Order: sequence, then C-alpha cells, then structure tokens
Amino acid sequence: MDRCRILVVEDEDTIAHILQAVLEDHECEVHIARTAEDGLAQVKRMSFDVALLDIVLPGMNGLQLLTKIREERPDTEVLMMTSHASVETVVEAIHHGAYDYIRKPFQDVEEVWINVQRAIEKKRLTEANRSLIVNQERQNQELGASVKRLSSLIEAGRAMSEFTSLSKLLDFFTGLVAKELDVERASLMLLDDAGEELRIAAARGLGGLELEKIRVKVGEGVAGRVARTGQHILVTDASSDARARKSANPKLSDSFISAPIVLSMPIKSAEKVSGVINVTNRISGVPFDEEDVAYLAGLAGQLAVAVERARHFDDLQRAYESLKAAQEQLVFAERLKAIGQMAAGVAHDFNNSLSVILGRAQLVIRRIDHEPSNLADIRGDLEAIEKISLQGAETVKRVQEYTRIRKDLPHSKVDLNVVVREAVEMTRPKWSEASKAQGRRIEIQLELNEMPYVSGNLYELTQVVGNLIFNSVEAMPNGGAIQFRTYFEEDTVCLEVRDSGVGMDEETTSRLFEPFYTTKETGQGLGTSIIYGIVSRHLGEVVVDSAPEDGTRVTIKLPRLLGHEPTASAADVTEAEETKANTILLVDDEDMVRETYGTALALSGHKVATAASGNEALEALAKGSFDLMITDLSMEGMSGLELSERVRKTNSVMPIILLSGWAIQQDEAQVTEAGINRVLAKPCPIERLLAAVGDIGTSPVAT
Ligand code: ADP
Ligand code: MG
Repeated sequence: MDRCRILVVEDEDTIAHILQAVLEDHECEVHIARTAEDGLAQVKRMSFDVALLDIVLPGMNGLQLLTKIREERPDTEVLMMTSHASVETVVEAIHHGAYDYIRKPFQDVEEVWINVQRAIEKKRLTEANRSLIVNQERQNQELGASVKRLSSLIEAGRAMSEFTSLSKLLDFFTGLVAKELDVERASLMLLDDAGEELRIAAARGLGGLELEKIRVKVGEGVAGRVARTGQHILVTDASSDARARKSANPKLSDSFISAPIVLSMPIKSAEKVSGVINVTNRISGVPFDEEDVAYLAGLAGQLAVAVERARHFDDLQRAYESLKAAQEQLVFAERLKAIGQMAAGVAHDFNNSLSVILGRAQLVIRRIDHEPSNLADIRGDLEAIEKISLQGAETVKRVQEYTRIRKDLPHSKVDLNVVVREAVEMTRPKWSEASKAQGRRIEIQLELNEMPYVSGNLYELTQVVGNLIFNSVEAMPNGGAIQFRTYFEEDTVCLEVRDSGVGMDEETTSRLFEPFYTTKETGQGLGTSIIYGIVSRHLGEVVVDSAPEDGTRVTIKLPRLLGHEPTASAADVTEAEETKANTILLVDDEDMVRETYGTALALSGHKVATAASGNEALEALAKGSFDLMITDLSMEGMSGLELSERVRKTNSVMPIILLSGWAIQQDEAQVTEAGINRVLAKPCPIERLLAAVGDIGTSPVAT
C-alpha cells in the first residue's frame, strides 16, 4: 500500500506536533497548516487521503474549510477535531460530508490513529468501488456488443436459408459485415473454378471501380495470400505494413492487390477455401481487434457453408433446366410419333372408306346402265356412300383437332364424359384397326355417369386419357378390355380406367411417373409424366393400382367446378326452320364442290349463282344483288377471308358463310374481323348447309 498523505489543519502547535509524530510513526506523510486558508492552498496543490481539521481556527473556520475541501477534492476523507463538541456542530459537520470527528484533548493518541486508519480504509474502499463500477460498465458495454454481434450472426444464419440466389446472399453478407464492423469498404471475393484467381462477388464502398475486371491471383497481395494459406491476416498498422500499403492510384486501377486491406478472412469449409472477405477503413478510426477477427471468422464460417450449398443449388438449377429442355424436346417427339401412328391409322381407315365409296359408286353406274328402274338398290348404294363419307369427315375432323397448333387455351368448363369419348375416338386407330391388324382384339367398355363439370382444358385432358389408352393397349399384347367409369364423390370428379393387361410390379408402380422411366424396348417413358403434369396443373390427383398379371387401374381425380350442376347431354342439332328462298352466290374454285352444293341449294328452292374465284365473285356482286354469299377459304388469287374483307368495304349487311376444309384451324378473331358470319366445315352434310342458310338468311346480320 502507498504511503498515506495526510493534511493536519491546527493552529495550536502542540497538538499539531503530537499528531504529526503519531501519524509519521504509522508511515504517513504529514503536512501541517496553521490556518484554513493555508490548508485550502495545500489541498489545491495536491491530493490528500485524509484531512484532519480543527473546527475553531483564526479566519475561516473548520466547517467552512470542510465545505471547500469537499468541493475541491471530493475523494479526500475529512475528520473534524473539536474540544467542545456540541451535538449541533458535529451533526452539521457530518452533514457537510465529514467522515467522523475526534474529541480534544486526545485521551489516547492511538485512538486518533484508529480514527484516521478507518478514514483511510473508507477512502480506499471508495476508490476500489469506483474502479469496479468503471470496470463493470466496460464489461457491460463489451457484453452488449458481443450480444449484438451474436444476434447478427444468428440473423445471418437465418437469412442464408432464405436466399436462393448466390449473388443475393453474398451481397447481403457483405452489407452485414460492413455494417457490423463499421467499415467504409468491404469486399467479398470468390475463387474461380480452377482455384487460381479471386474475383469480387459483392462489395460495399468500392463505387467507381470496375469490379468485374478486378482479378487477384492466389498468393498475391493480402487477399491472395489469405486464399492460399487459409489463414486470416490482420494488419494492425496499415501505414507501415508493407502488405497493405495504400495505392497511390485511388482507382486501384488494374489490380485489387494494392488495395489497403486491413483485415482479410478466408471463407473456408472443411479446409477448402472458396473465397475471402476483406474489410478496410473503420469509419470510427478504431483499429480492428481480436474480437472483430473472431466475429468475421464466425460469419465467414457460416458463409462458407452457404456458398457450398448455393453452388450446389445453382448446379442443380442448371441441370434441371437442361433436363427440362430435353424433356420438352422429347414430349414434342412423342407427340409427333403419336400423330404419325394416328396418320397411319387414318390412312388405313380412309383407304377402307374410299374402297367402299368407289365400289358403291361404280355399282350405281352399272345399275343405271343395266337396271335403271331399280331405284331402291340405287338409293341403298347412295346411302352407303353418304354414311361412309360422313364417317370419313368425322375422322378427318379428329385428326385436325389433334394436330392443330394450339395457343394455350384458358381453363374452361369441361365435361369429363366428353373427354373420355373424344379420347376413345381419337385413339381408335391405336386400339381398333392397328390392334386388329396384329391379330388381337381390344374391347372398349364405357360406363359414363352424369357428372359435374371440371375446370380445365379439354385438349389437355383428352391427351391424359389418350395416353392412358395407349399404355393399356400396350399392356395387352394378346388383346383384352379397357373399361372406363366416371363417377363423383362430393367435390371430386373421378375417371377410372381399368385394363386387363400385364400389370406392373412394385418398382414400376413407384417409378411410373418419372420422366423417361420405361420398361418398353421402344418406350420413351414420357406418357405418364405428361399425365402427371397435366393432372397436377388441374389440381388433381392420379391414383394407380396394379399388380403383375393382374391388370391396372388408374383413377384420375379432379376437383369439380363449383356452381355447375351435373351435365346433361346436350342435343347439338338444331332443326332447320321453314326455309325461305334466297339468292345465293356460291364461291369455290373446285368445280365438283360448286356443282354439288350448288345443286343441293337449288333443289331446296334457292336461286344460286356460282363464281370460281374471288375476282369472279366481286364481278357478280357488282352486277347483281344477293341475299347471301357462301365462300371457300383457300382459293388461287384471293382467299375467302380477303374476299370477305373486300365485300365488307361496300356491303355490310349481306351474310357471309365460310365453307372450308380448314374451318377447324381458323382463328375465330380473324374470321370475325374479316366480316364472316358463320363458319362451316367441309365436308358439310347438305342438311347442315341448308339449316345454316335458313338461319342466317332469316336473321338480320350485325357487323
Ligand atoms: P412408355 O409408355 O413410353 O414406356 P410411360 O410413361 O407411358 O412410358 O409409362 C411408363 C411405364 O409404366 C411403362 O413402360 C410401363 O412399364 C408402365 N405402365 C404404364 N401404364 C401401364 C399399364 N396400363 N399397364 C402396365 N404397365 C404400365
Ligand atoms: Mg406410354
């Protein structure tokens, strides 16, 4: 313990001397003052641990001096001395901050020392206490800072799981580091794939630099060295440290090597360095300490994990995209294949139809030559021709439906029963003719019940069922049956497709929907993934139930369209009204077509003029007036659409019917724009043509 310094203010020499002797005996440094004024002057000069003040002094008294000393040196403990201690003065003294008082004359000088010793003790305790408080405050501050950093580490960890793009994540981290370490500049560099160069991936405070051009070779400069060794570098004196000398060029020009990096931390996981974080220029000017280093190391550790993960994610994303592109290609190829199969089936169908038509037509000619009066047989032949032609027309329509290039149709009200019928018809060549040709018979059984509508895309859903049929047919090399059943349960509309085919083992059932999974030699493995994709998009579900040699049951479950009652089978044929005779202009470049429809219209009482081209039609219209024009679409010189547009320039009232073999492919908006009122598909049964003419001829036309 240091020697105590004590001030004695006493005007009586004897007492002053006694005190001096006693205190010096106890190793104290004693200063004597005879007056309060002298005492105060000494207090101002130096600090005392304890002051002993006589109360009665010449001039300023002891109590006044006490007040001044408390002001001047609040740490000095004061003991008052009095010979006639009245309670009042003692109380006043203590009130003014005296520690205690000593009665004069001294009974026992050692008692005086005990008093002084206590005062000294109190002074020491106060001091110790004060430094404890200061210490604690500092610790509190440090703890607060640590907690803050810790929570920013936690925040960083949490943020990482939310980033899906590496660049966003890195930017976030760099921002966090700059904020937490209070730096003007921070940069995050990543190693290239070859592990040779660092490039800046994110930065703060490096505005004006062409960051993407900055390259640092591993081993060069501070960052390069950190990347090589995997050990951080903390430059404590940037101005003298050669590793971090500032560049004379404020733009850091062609190299980041000369940047005044002050702290550089590797980003590494499992000893593999993937980059470095550099920080420079603390805004407050306070140098970086070990705590900053520990904090940055913590962040860098988390970052390393995130970088690894994000790289995997990016790789996966790329792989996924190329797979998707490949799949789209294959889906397209699969569709072409299906179209090819269908075309082959259609050709086969058609040849059959044509042979019937040809045969019957030749028969009619013979009958007319040899037995012209046998009208009943002639009529029978003609009816057969009529029937088979209509069937052929249906087939062609289906092919057109299937191959037509679709813009993605919006979701609309779809009847699953219609879907089933369409799909069955569309795939007829696959299950009927083609299979028969291979010597097997496939039977289709329909149990279609009344159902609510679903919201969806008719074409896509037809594709789903079509694919199911393809798979079932392929699963029945010796023929069999495919049963369809529709039903609904509360808000779910279901279609069950059951076949009596070879069935599937457990592995196939579980991998069925994987794209490219196939057990067939020439299979693509896409049918079921297309089914899955479409049904999912319709918010539905596919349930498969199958066992080897025991057939397969696939159930498609779709949410019902709310607010629509069960479907009723709509009769779509409108009876023709009583026909009114019209003057009709019939435009077609095919002589046969003009003749056939022209004759049919004339036989029903209409007055018909014909034109073989758009120009002829315009001439006819210029000369005479017509109630109605029927035109073909594709004609040499001028198409039906162009013709209609030209006619509409001068005539906005005459109804125009487009009669075309391409009717199905027509864009509705384009047709309306050209001023066409009705579209009919070729071949068109005479009744339908007459009905249309009757309809349109009697109702006024709005254009
Ligand atoms: P692909 O028909 O080109 O093989 P899919 O995706 O349509 O591709 O079908 C995948 C596999 O699922 C088929 O190879 C087959 O093993 C099995 N599979 C699908 N449907 C049936 C079914 N109805 N009966 C038996 N196996 C089926
Ligand atoms: Mg298939």
